[in-house]
Amino acid sequence: VTSDGARPVRFARAALIGCGLIGGSLAAALRQAGAVGRMTGFDADWARLERAQKLGLIDAAAGDAAAAASEADLVIVAVPVRASNDVLSAIAPALERAELITDVGSTKLDVLDIAERTLPDPSRFCGGHPIAGTERSGPDAADANLFRDRLCIVTPTARTSPAALAACEEMWRSAGARTERMEAAEHDRELAWVSHLPHAAAFALAAAIGAVGDEVGGLWGGGFNDTTRIAASDPTMWRDIFLANRAPLLRALEGLKSELAALHTAVELGDAPAIEALIGRAHAGRRRVLEMRRRK
Ligand code: NAP
Repeated sequence: VTSDGARPVRFARAALIGCGLIGGSLAAALRQAGAVGRMTGFDADWARLERAQKLGLIDAAAGDAAAAASEADLVIVAVPVRASNDVLSAIAPALERAELITDVGSTKLDVLDIAERTLPDPSRFCGGHPIAGTERSGPDAADANLFRDRLCIVTPTARTSPAALAACEEMWRSAGARTERMEAAEHDRELAWVSHLPHAAAFALAAAIGAVGDEVGGLWGGGFNDTTRIAASDPTMWRDIFLANRAPLLRALEGLKSELAALHTAVELGDAPAIEALIGRAHAGRRRVLEMRRRK
């Protein structure tokens, strides 16, 4: 607390690379909490960068990622996961002041590997993944309350310094989130089942329904809406996640394929007990996963 009684700003200068839904929401939450001072942004999409400034998510727009990061104590990388390589390489020479370099990507192993290979001092990097979001994208979708009471997974490596880990956890708590530490590989394996597979299934389902043409009129209801809402998600973001987490996702897709094949056979044979058995497994599976979250 300063002599005038005010709390000092935790990060006087911050940089946001990628001013979309997640980056914009984090910037808004940190600003609302008074945890950051001046926020400089950069985005590959100039219209989005201008919009982020107009919305007050960032104070200033930089001409490139390195210019945004230079002078920053906190650098947040919030781009689609396969773009992290370009961003981390670009900012690497400009990180003299940075106390914490972090990301928000939905896959963690690849980003940590890139950070270890590209950053001059990987001890100042700590990954994060907020388990919050929507099917929308861009700065107009940003929401200062997006992370309130939500979980953020923090994935330090063996090289992450205790100071960088503490700063990362403090940043997320300032944004309103709870934090939990996890190994990157474990994170990617678990998310393949409970996030990447549901999105893959929703994309395939919506594409299959969209392909039938005249058989489908306007008779859709809750079943269609509930199961395909996330099929409206950003294609670049999900392409990158699927490619970055290939092995765990392929295992999960095999699991889905085998259940679909079992259902196909049961329907073909008119096998009522087999259909009921599959729906029973579905109820038990859903309950089991939801109860695990409640225990955390
Ligand atoms: P978004 O709204 O599309 O924002 C990402 C922004 O990054 C876009 O404006 C994009 O511009 C820009 N960008 C792409 N490549 C760049 C580069 N090389 N340099 C600078 N800017 C670049 O996406 P988002 O939903 O915020 O996702 C950002 C990250 O958060 C992703 O890694 C995603 O996996 C993770 N995440 C998302 C969610 C979710 O629900 N959406 C939840 C948790 C974590 P262009 O449009 O020109 O490509």
